[in-house]
Formats: sequence, C-alpha cells, structure tokens
Amino acid sequence: MTYQLPKQIEELKAKAREFSDSVMLPLEAKWPHHTDEVPIADKIALGRKGIEAGIIAPGRPKELGGQGLGALGSVVVLAEMARTTPGFSTFYDVGFPFFQEPFPMFFSASSFIKDNYTSRLINDGVTYAMMMSEPQAGSDFSGIQTTARRVGDDYVLNGQKIYPTSYSWSLFSVVWAVVVDDKNKAILDEKGRSQITAFLVDHDNPGLKVLKWVDVLGIDLEPIVELKDCVIPAKNMFGSIGQGMAIARGQMNRARLGWGAAAIGSSERSLELAIKYAKERRAFGRAIGEFQAIQWWLADSYIELQAMRQLNYYTASRADSHGDLQKVTFQTAAAVNKLFCLERALQIVDRCMQVHGAMGMTQEYPFEYLHRQLKSARAAEGSPQIMRHIVATDLLGKEITQLTPKQ
Ligand SMILES: Cc1cc2nc3c(=O)[nH]c(=O)nc-3n(C[C@H](O)[C@H](O)[C@H](O)COP(=O)(O)OP(=O)(O)OC[C@H]3O[C@@H](n4cnc5c(N)ncnc54)[C@H](O)[C@@H]3O)c2cc1C
Repeated sequence: MTYQLPKQIEELKAKAREFSDSVMLPLEAKWPHHTDEVPIADKIALGRKGIEAGIIAPGRPKELGGQGLGALGSVVVLAEMARTTPGFSTFYDVGFPFFQEPFPMFFSASSFIKDNYTSRLINDGVTYAMMMSEPQAGSDFSGIQTTARRVGDDYVLNGQKIYPTSYSWSLFSVVWAVVVDDKNKAILDEKGRSQITAFLVDHDNPGLKVLKWVDVLGIDLEPIVELKDCVIPAKNMFGSIGQGMAIARGQMNRARLGWGAAAIGSSERSLELAIKYAKERRAFGRAIGEFQAIQWWLADSYIELQAMRQLNYYTASRADSHGDLQKVTFQTAAAVNKLFCLERALQIVDRCMQVHGAMGMTQEYPFEYLHRQLKSARAAEGSPQIMRHIVATDLLGKEITQLTPKQ
C-alpha cells in the first residue's frame, strides 16, 4: 500500500536506504547528539561519501550538477536519512556539507553570488546559515527590524538575529533586512509595504558579533547575532529590493516539504523497533505484542505512517509539477504537509517509546533524540498555529468549488 514511485526514484531510495543503514546507523553510537561538536572535517568526509554513493543533490537540476529528480527525489532521500539520529541531524542543519541542497535562491542569484558562493557550496562543502528570525519577530516575519541603508556601492546593516541554524560552522549567512533611507525610515513600495530584502554577509565581517549562545531543545547551540554598522557590497543582494519575502517563502515551502520527509523516516524506524520489541519483550507470561493496548499503538502508527507518506510524496510531486516553490498557491500544500506529518510523527515516536517502557527513555534507543528533534521542528519554518493560519486564510478566501487541489 504505497505510492508508486518512478523507477529512477525507487532506485535512488534503495541507494539512500543502503547508505543510511551502512554509514549513518554505525555513527549513531559514535557521534555526539549535538552536531556542532562533530569536527567539520568529519562532516565534509561524510558528505563526500554521500556523493560517492550517488545520493547527493537529487533535487537539483542536472544543468546545475544535480540529479534532476525534483522535490520528490529530495524527500525520498531525506526520509531515508532521518531513520537514524546522525541522518536526522544532517538534514536538520540547513547547511550540512553537501547533504542539504543549497536553496534555489543560490541558483537564481547574481553571477557574482553564483561564482563566489554557490559554486563553493556545491564543490567544497562550504555551508551557510539563514537569518530571518529576530528576538522580537518570528512568526510575524513582516515585523523584522533589521535595517539596510544604501551608502555608495555598499549597504550598511543594523539589527539583531536569532536561531540561525548551523551558524557555528558556516562561512556566511543570508540576512533579511528592511531597506531604509538616509534617515533610517523604511522605503515603502507602491502598496505601502516595507521592502524586505535578502543579503549575503560573510561571517568574518567585523560588523557581525555573537552576543549570546542559546541552547535549543534537540538542536545545537543557536546564537543571537548583532549586526552593527555591518558594511557589505551592494552586489551581495539576492534578487532585487523588496523580493526578500518571496525568496523566504520559497525557502520555507521547500523546508516544510523536508520536514514531512524527516517525520516519515523517524516514524518508520521507530515503528520497526517497536514491532521487534513487542515480539521479544515479555510481561505477565507472554510477549507484550499480545496485549491489545500495544497492538493498537502499532496499528495506529502504521496507518498514520501510510497517510504521511502518501501526503508527502503527493505534495512533492505537486511542487515539481507547479515548478515554483515561491508561489503563494503552493504555501497551503506545504503547510498541510508539515503540520500533518510532524504532528503524527510526534505521536508515533511517543507511542513507540512507550512500547519500550523505561528502556525507551534511554539513549540506548533513538526515541528520546528523535522526539526532541521533532518537537523542535514544530517551531522551525513556522509553528503549528501558523500552518493552520495559512490553511484557514486560504480556505476562507476560496469558493467551496475550489477546495479540491488541482493536479
Ligand atoms: C530548531 C529551530 C531551528 C530554527 N532555525 C532557524 C533558522 O535557521 N533561521 C531563522 O531565521 N530562524 C530559525 N528558527 C526560528 C523559527 O523560524 C521561529 O522560532 C518561528 O518562526 C516562530 O517564531 P517565534 O519563536 O518567535 O515565536 P512567536 O512568533 O513569538 O510565537 C509565539 C507563539 O505564538 C503563536 N502565534 C504567533 N502568531 C500567531 C497567530 N497569528 N495565530 C496563532 N498563534 C500565533 C506561535 O504559534 C507560538 O506558539 C528556528 C527555530 C527552531 C526551534
């Protein structure tokens, strides 16, 4: 009872499973749970193994050195990686060397960015971080206060950012800021909106300073970063002034698809372990799998996992056929996928943890780690409330007859 994947993607999935079992799984006992404690050289070496195994850059177009298998190719590989704890974190970290494909914004950037940064992301295992959130603005992205003021051939950035994942081993960040005039007043567009714009900032820029490291559940330490009179060349801009919102939307839609895949991988592994344990562990003279309470946990988890997989594959296929992740029309589909898959995964991992009793709470098994990661993933790229908000806004703006998504 599974969605029929195209043959090429089925083959890619098999390769990714083999890699996950033979390379990622043994790392589970060796790697610290905090990926920022893993030396960057080890991360790059792992990425190179992934290239040799043919599982890297599945979704990137062939003309850009990828495998051309679209979002469907990407989610299939990510789900296999997320079966193991190091595999989950390689996906988690936006800029994990080679594993995470650079977001499309890097391929449609100016030739200056492509030549100096995109090529290094692809060829050298260089990584980057994304700076959207600010201490006072997360869900409400339009409320960011970091400013960018044009001075000659440069922009001067001022503000604070929080939670840029992978910052500690990245060489640069993408920073979203509001473009202001000489008096620091936002320059508005024709509809009266501030013009949020994305810029690339090198981490060795003297205007960049980490104010504090915050320990976030299930993930590495995340910094609060100050940009103080941070001068960057104007050619470090992505797209044009005011395009930052659309660029961020495309990036988030794509990441939300990935969360669906991570939810599938971690749920599948948890269920496999729970089935095995239910057959082996005995209580009151019988295998615990003979108790109906345990059977129903397993059955419900299996049913939900099937639904998650269908939804994730379907949404990825839609992204491929629609072509443009930045479109507002794809936002609802990506939100439905993220919310449903992550919420079900949290429940599945929790049930499988309980099947294992106290042993499920130990680090002998991956449950507590996966549970922490999934819980944290709820907030990353938009909370459950914001996913529901996106869906409801879409529904209320539509006629009843338009509610079935078009293929
Ligand atoms: C693991 C992790 C990784 C992250 N990585 C990055 C990164 O790399 N780069 C980056 O820029 N940011 C990153 N973030 C930040 C993330 O994008 C924000 O946490 C998220 O957008 C929510 O913002 P907030 O935490 O400020 O919550 P707030 O916006 O302050 O929301 C607080 C609560 O209010 C609710 N709420 C807000 N608005 C509404 C509404 N309209 N209706 C109903 N409820 C509402 C929210 O759901 C939430 O429960 C990361 C976060 C985590 C946890």
